Amino acid sequence: MKVKITTLSLACLAIIALGACSHDKESKNSSIKEPASSKQVAQSSSRKVTSASEETSSQGSQKSAKKAGEVTVDQGVSFNGSYYSVQGKSGDIVIANKHYPLAADYNPGEDPTALAALHELIAAMQAEGYAISDQYSGFRSYETQVGLYQSYVDQDGVDAADRYSARPGYSEHQTGLAFDLIDTSGNLVQEPGASKWLLKNAAKYGFIVRYQEGKEASTGYMPESWHLRYIGEDAKDVAASGKSLEEYFNFTGGDYE
Ligand SMILES: [Zn+2]
Repeated sequence: MKVKITTLSLACLAIIALGACSHDKESKNSSIKEPASSKQVAQSSSRKVTSASEETSSQGSQKSAKKAGEVTVDQGVSFNGSYYSVQGKSGDIVIANKHYPLAADYNPGEDPTALAALHELIAAMQAEGYAISDQYSGFRSYETQVGLYQSYVDQDGVDAADRYSARPGYSEHQTGLAFDLIDTSGNLVQEPGASKWLLKNAAKYGFIVRYQEGKEASTGYMPESWHLRYIGEDAKDVAASGKSLEEYFNFTGGDYE
């Protein structure tokens, strides 16, 4: 990301009061501290992205965006009207990537089981001395993402925005199962020690580090050490496999079509 990081960071600060920016290098300068509430922090993240659906600006639709229900479906993938999923050990595993969007009206909120597991994970990290905040960026509605993504497009254009912000309907945060960890300075977690801890231990809590290095081709996103995705019982197997979620369950990922 070589975009005007500073400008971007400032913009992010203005837009949402919280860790919405994932600009590594600027982290230290960011004054995003202790967001008032976790709900608010929920904007963040992102360096990921999604495809702007029709509702988002004309600029956003330069790249085709499909709605849930309109995409080519891989074998083993189901669609229930709200989301696509694959079969996990203990139920459906919701899919949200640049190939498989979520329905615009899918608005589940934060998953209670995932949230409880997240609190345990955060407590464990804090107990080990990592500078992890109790704050996090979790659920983000479709509408919220519309505004967030559009603000980035207005500022940097579609191509640049797509590198760090998800298009509405494609953000994993809309599933209520994804969380961005924030450090005690208010920035997205990317300290090497903490990042390694997550790679090694997140699965014990049912999470996988969703966007890892070397997996951009299948996940469609740059590495994000702070973005955790709850998948429950399958987490350990997926983590141990060294594969991305797309690779492990064999479903299409990558960039927008
Ligand atoms: Zn995230």
